[in-house]
Amino acid sequence: MKKTPFKNYSVNVEKAVKLLSLPEVFVKKLTTPNRIIQKKISVTMDNGVKKTFQAYRVQFNNARGPYKGGIRFHPDADLDEVKALAAAMAVKCSVVGIPLGGGKGGVTCDPKKLSTKELEKISRAWGKAMAPFIGANRDIPAPDVYTTGQTMAFILDEFEKFHGRSEPGLITGKPLSLGGSLGRDTATADGGAFVLRELIKELGLKRTDLKVVIQGFGNAGATMAKILKHEGYVIVGLSDSHGAIYDVSGLDPENLELSKQEKGSLQAGAGEGVRLLSNEELLTSECDILIPAALDGIFNKNNAGKVKAKVIVELANGPTTPEADEILMKRGVTVVPDVLFNAGGVTVSYFEWVQNISGFYWTAEEVRKRLEPIMVKSFKEIWEMAKVKKISLRDAAFATGIGRIVEAMKYRGR
Ligand code: NAD
Repeated sequence: MKKTPFKNYSVNVEKAVKLLSLPEVFVKKLTTPNRIIQKKISVTMDNGVKKTFQAYRVQFNNARGPYKGGIRFHPDADLDEVKALAAAMAVKCSVVGIPLGGGKGGVTCDPKKLSTKELEKISRAWGKAMAPFIGANRDIPAPDVYTTGQTMAFILDEFEKFHGRSEPGLITGKPLSLGGSLGRDTATADGGAFVLRELIKELGLKRTDLKVVIQGFGNAGATMAKILKHEGYVIVGLSDSHGAIYDVSGLDPENLELSKQEKGSLQAGAGEGVRLLSNEELLTSECDILIPAALDGIFNKNNAGKVKAKVIVELANGPTTPEADEILMKRGVTVVPDVLFNAGGVTVSYFEWVQNISGFYWTAEEVRKRLEPIMVKSFKEIWEMAKVKKISLRDAAFATGIGRIVEAMKYRGR
């Protein structure tokens, strides 16, 4: 099935514009990016042959502050996806009330087929190509799928060489030695865990009774699995790009992380008694809470009717299509949208930027102490609006986020 992430975003904007009783013209304004930068980057591969890759940066909306958003290295990264992710970043920053806009970047490439040196060259080429367009007060990139702190370090290095000045606030998700923030590596999952805690209170559920399945075992998914296990939830299913594992008596994410490092995949490292499933089967397996933490568009009209979980919390960006949303809503499944649930990542990126700009660095405890009230307050606002207006949490989150962006656009006379 062809994915249409930007169309999915547009459907959510149309609904928000209606809910806010805004003039129709705002649909166009909020679905048109300010700027699209596309560059061909050329890299000499390890075998001496030159290869060209398509690189992107979409600067979607900066009414509330500089563009902010990650860079994705993935074979499926294309303009439609980068545009959708950039737009969602503007909404996300607005939902949690941080003074940033929305942007996103990418390179169409398969990192699994590239050497460390080739990845460095691609990262540096992206940094060099985009250096004239980004900056601490202009557009601040960060890591996303298959990019890391090391990728950010290469990009920062190219940017600083290009401009001839030091500017750590250019990019977030950096290594600590380059001005990264303590707590950024766990921030997305930490923020999600705060929201989940509030949600289950509202639903009258007890964490030790809850079986959790997580799709994706990278930065976001593996950290979430470890936090939730520690908090007493039972992690029954996990997956990575190679396949899924399921054990109703509970999995140990810490051990699995070690065995995945050693053996290359979750399935290869799974012990006896653990069932091996396909990634698709995992999404409809028996559980209470289902956490997508990999790629977009995985819940669609074909599988939404078969999901057994009562709650879906979106740690990944854009995992649910509008058709799936409707089906899940009718079936009474509570879906906490990405623009709220995974906003802990960008919130601590914002903290990193604040620390870089002020040149004063916080402890891990300070970062956590500042993250928690932002996530809890944002959840409560969205939960209340959804309850009062009898709408989904996604519609409430989009209405909140879009409402604040429109207010800023109006003040600017846009
Ligand atoms: P990552 O590259 O660290 O991990 C991605 C994981 O997904 C890997 O374990 C990979 O094996 C797995 N995966 C890939 N294809 C899969 C498939 N078909 N089925 C199951 N698993 C598959 O990326 P990440 O940073 O953890 O990001 C994951 C998602 O979370 C993305 O949607 C990203 O945009 C979103 N997100 C991440 C952050 C963050 O701070 N890392 C913040 C907000 C949102």
